[in-house]
Amino acid sequence: MKILIVEDERKVGQFLERAMAEQSYTVHVARTCAQAHDALAESAFDVIILDLGLPDGDGLDLLKAWRSAGHTEPVLILSARDAVADRIRGLNLGADDYLPKPFSVDEVVARVRSLLRRQAGAKVTVLTHGGIRLDLLARQATLQGAAVELTNREFALLELFLLHAGRVLTRTMIAEKIWESPYDVETNLIDVYVRRLRRKLERPGGPPLIRTVRGTGYQLA
Ligand code: CA
Repeated sequence: MKILIVEDERKVGQFLERAMAEQSYTVHVARTCAQAHDALAESAFDVIILDLGLPDGDGLDLLKAWRSAGHTEPVLILSARDAVADRIRGLNLGADDYLPKPFSVDEVVARVRSLLRRQAGAKVTVLTHGGIRLDLLARQATLQGAAVELTNREFALLELFLLHAGRVLTRTMIAEKIWESPYDVETNLIDVYVRRLRRKLERPGGPPLIRTVRGTGYQLA
């Protein structure tokens, strides 16, 4: 499980980092809106813990930008502001939970666990896009109702694209999710897999399925 902690107060950040590491979660700490933005663009997280008062902006604006860019990661807002208006605004912008400061370590661990559970329970089993249908339980892919043979890696890659439709997936993110040791993955290996998916799923003369975003990665069209 990967947790992104967005918190500028060093002490609180370290406290959270330790608490999450003790649960064996992988932790990344961002201290500014800019760092948080970069972290999320580069990697996928299972839960985001978001402080509101950040040196270069407001966490709520960050949340708003993420949600409108299609980021669906569960967000736990953490803030000294316990005004009802702020809380409601955060939840309206797509936060999943809200924890006023000061909080205890048990409290924050329990909230994160609950978000992870909820996320796991809400997992969809069938993904569709255009004429593509991916049945995650039966491990079957169809295009306009006709079965498409995919290898395990191709299936996993297509699943990743469908789960993040419209979002740019960087090569780093793809390598992390699809290959166990991302640092060994030659970037052109990812290109090879994308080409195979295109060959199997794009109709001749039809619209592109996966767009190449130059210098960055790929995006489901
Ligand atoms: Ca702060």
